[in-house]
Amino acid sequence: MTDATWVFDFPPYRPPSEAYSMLLRVTRGCPWNRCAFCSMYRKYPFGRRSVVDIKADIDRLVEVYGAGMTSVFFGDSNSLLLSAADLVEVLRYLHRSVPGLLRVTSYARAKTLLKKSPADLRAIRDAGLHRLHIGLESGDDEVLRMICKGATADEMIAAGQRVKEAGFECSMYVLLGIGGVEKTRQHRTGTIRVLNAVDPHFIRVRTLTPIPGTDIARWIAEGSFAPVSPLMSIEEERDIVAGLEVTSRFLNDHVSNMVPLDGRLPDDRQAMLDMLDAGMEYCRRHELGYRDYRAR
Ligand code: SF4
Repeated sequence: MTDATWVFDFPPYRPPSEAYSMLLRVTRGCPWNRCAFCSMYRKYPFGRRSVVDIKADIDRLVEVYGAGMTSVFFGDSNSLLLSAADLVEVLRYLHRSVPGLLRVTSYARAKTLLKKSPADLRAIRDAGLHRLHIGLESGDDEVLRMICKGATADEMIAAGQRVKEAGFECSMYVLLGIGGVEKTRQHRTGTIRVLNAVDPHFIRVRTLTPIPGTDIARWIAEGSFAPVSPLMSIEEERDIVAGLEVTSRFLNDHVSNMVPLDGRLPDDRQAMLDMLDAGMEYCRRHELGYRDYRAR
């Protein structure tokens, strides 16, 4: 497969906060590709793009859109797999080509981050990568093992702390319902522990949506995984918000979430709890109980 074909894989994946960013692929797909809930990159083999090809894309972006872009997102799922030297070269070229660039961000796996030295991370940060988005999903080791996340809770903590120490903005993702009914309690307490230990700049929440073809969807169909109800997913989030001792911006910025939240902890905690209480009341009134995904 030639590099040129990589550019047109569809759809592109990026955080909602990067909706207005230029998307620049520096890798393709996911090197892990095993998480039980994720179907995003299943159909692609993983690959690194060459610095030469990435620079050619930057030239083309400037040609087509001008040098007025203010934010860029590096795709795909784990750009930190490129060597620090390559990332630094790409970042310097990007910032030289687009002098008004204010923000460059990327997804990164905790395990990959821990393989980069603090000096390498600092060099990448200094070259102009500003924010890293890390999929925590859960802070409970049993849940992380069950969903084949490939990192332990303590590794998530170490990665988040290393990212912050290197000067990046750290954005961590939590997945409501990922423990199912059986592990909902430990999912809540473990997630609070990890987030409190890291105190990321952003906590972004999603709600489990079983995608056909994933392990989770199969477990639900087989009856070995009982998904939480909408009511229980909001209750999970309520417990997490109540237990956090962080200074993060906390966002439900995804279509999967039942209640839209965007606040800063601890100041907005009560307002967010009130909204979650209202969401729970709505679920009770409309009897939004168990979602029977098997019917779909
Ligand atoms: S959740 Fe992230 S690490 Fe896991 S398979 Fe999907 S893209 Fe890869």
